[in-house]
Amino acid sequence: MIEEKKYDKYLKRFKSKSILDYLIKNEIIVDNYSDIIYNLVNDEISLINNKFNIPVKKCAVRALQSAYFCAKNGLVSAAFENDRFFLERLSLLKIISCMNIDNNPYEMALERKEWHELINSKFVLYGSSQFVGKLNHYYGKNFDMNNISVYTTGMPLCGLHSKRFVKYSMDISEIEKETDVKINEKCSKCDKKATRFVIALPKAGAIIGILGFYNNTDTKSIGKLYADYSRVLHPYGFYSYPKEYLINLWALDLIRLFKTMNKLIF
Ligand SMILES: [Zn+2]
Repeated sequence: MIEEKKYDKYLKRFKSKSILDYLIKNEIIVDNYSDIIYNLVNDEISLINNKFNIPVKKCAVRALQSAYFCAKNGLVSAAFENDRFFLERLSLLKIISCMNIDNNPYEMALERKEWHELINSKFVLYGSSQFVGKLNHYYGKNFDMNNISVYTTGMPLCGLHSKRFVKYSMDISEIEKETDVKINEKCSKCDKKATRFVIALPKAGAIIGILGFYNNTDTKSIGKLYADYSRVLHPYGFYSYPKEYLINLWALDLIRLFKTMNKLIF
C-alpha cells in the first residue's frame, strides 16, 4: 500500500474535482500513471486476498481487474462503471466479514444468485437508517453487532408469508434466545403474529452507510465518489475523451478511491 504522503503528491493536481469535469472538458492528464497504477492495483488485490477469506472477495477483485482493463483500452463508461461496482462490492465484503455470522444471508443471496429475488419481493433496505434504526429499536445503542441480531433489520413475517424465504430468515424465538431480547411483532403482510424475520438486502447507498456504521465513522466521502461514478454513466454515458489518456485520469481517481476506502476496509 502506498503511503499517505505519496497519495497526496498524486492527488494534489486532482483536488476535489469530479471525473465528469475532466471528461466533459476533455482535460487531459499527460503525466503517465500507467506503471504506478498497475502496481497499486496489484497491491490492492493482494490486500483483499490476504485480509478476507469469503467468496464475495472474488467479485471485488474481478471488478477492479475489469476496470483496469477498460481504462487501459480507453473504455470510459465501462471503466468507471466497474469502479462503482468495485466500491460497492468492497464495502459489502467488509460488512459481511464484520457481521461474523454463519451462513451470512447477504453472502448466501449473492452466491446463489437469489439477491434479486429478495429485492423483487421488496425485502429491501433503501438507507442505512433503516438498518441502524431497527437494531436500535430492539437492542438500544450498545448492542453486540456480531451476531444474528442482523435479522431484525429485515421483515417480521408469519409462517405462511416467510415460507418462500425460510433460508434467508431466522426464527424469532431463536433470535430472542440468542440475543436476550423480547420481540413481539405482527406479520407485515397479514397482521398475524410474526414467527420469523426475513432478511432485507441493502441498496448501494445503504451498503455505504452500513459500512460507516460498522466502522463507527462517516462514509459521506465514499457516497460522494459513488455518486460521481453514477454521474459519469448517467445522463451522458459517452465521451470523446482521448483513449490513450484515460488510464491517467482513471489512475488518479482510483488513488483517491483507495485513499478514501482503504482505511475503513483493511
Ligand atoms: Zn402473514
